[in-house]
Amino acid sequence: MLIAGGVACAAEKKSAWSPELKVGLIIATDKVTLNFSAPCNLTDLETGKVIAKIPAGKSFVVKSSELKTSAAEIRPQKIALKDLQTTVNGKIYFGGIRFIKVKNLFNVINLVPVEEYLHGVLSKEMSPDFPIEALKAQAVAARSFAMKNRGKHELEGFDICATVHCQVYDGVISHWAVNKAVEETRGEIMTFGGKIADTNFHADSGGMTESVRDVWGTATPYLIAVREIINLSSPWIVKVPLKDFSSRFGDGFGDLKLVKLSKMSVGQSADDRTSSGRVKTARLVGSNKTVDISGSNLRRKFSLPSTLFDITVVGNEVIFRGYGRGHGVGMSQMGAKSYAEDGWSYRKILEHYYSGAELKKVY
Ligand SMILES: [Zn+2]
Repeated sequence: MLIAGGVACAAEKKSAWSPELKVGLIIATDKVTLNFSAPCNLTDLETGKVIAKIPAGKSFVVKSSELKTSAAEIRPQKIALKDLQTTVNGKIYFGGIRFIKVKNLFNVINLVPVEEYLHGVLSKEMSPDFPIEALKAQAVAARSFAMKNRGKHELEGFDICATVHCQVYDGVISHWAVNKAVEETRGEIMTFGGKIADTNFHADSGGMTESVRDVWGTATPYLIAVREIINLSSPWIVKVPLKDFSSRFGDGFGDLKLVKLSKMSVGQSADDRTSSGRVKTARLVGSNKTVDISGSNLRRKFSLPSTLFDITVVGNEVIFRGYGRGHGVGMSQMGAKSYAEDGWSYRKILEHYYSGAELKKVY
């Protein structure tokens, strides 16, 4: 019985294993309130010695002033890391905690297996009400991103952060669709040429995704502009008073007299537009000076949802009319939703957006 039990346990452990991630939850804080679902050990990482035993279910505050080591971590005494529930300032996570001292403060880091991490990411990066095949595509994209970017924040003592800079991760909510999407794609990532692929994604392409070369300058064979099932989704409009617009280009610019930009047509390139039709450069003629500005700089300056837009001047207003949300590179989440509703599998959706990359199960 004992041996049979041991074998079953080992097999179960193997099937539940996934690589461990260090996710930066709170950066440079002086205290944090924690609570663990099972007994844990606090280990000083300088000496490797257990410096405290932590009972289950008891909330306590850790202050950076009381931490007498540069690095320490809390792991469960008896159960697997993935089965430990940790409450950090009232939010629930899976896994343990690491502290890294930064001068007089510390970074609070979640030690979490990738699969458990994804349960927290998926509900924040995509609505759990989206069709299951879209959620599964998102799970593969988020898993690939996490695996590809391990060590991105190495200098701060963790792999990836918990904000939009990396992926939004703000506690774990149990939702049947999220659980299903993560479990049914367990260990699956996108690869290209034997390496983990860059699986960028964005909210809405507006009709056609964008080549990565036109956004960040370096070409990647599987991040090219692809057409969408729905043309021109999600229109938006941003109006800026003419005076405010002109003032953003400095005193030397004067008043805006003319905007030179070819008319937008999704999928139609021009000298001043990319292959998807996004703005490469617009020429702004002021009363004192002419300025050429890139679409992404215009997007930043006026907080535009995307670079797929037209500009018109009507009366005392500059009007931006456009489509889509986000940088446009890789998978469009609204597009994935539409394709899933149209009966596409998550594999087909991923192969559409990461054209030429391959879906692989790595554990
Ligand atoms: Zn980050």
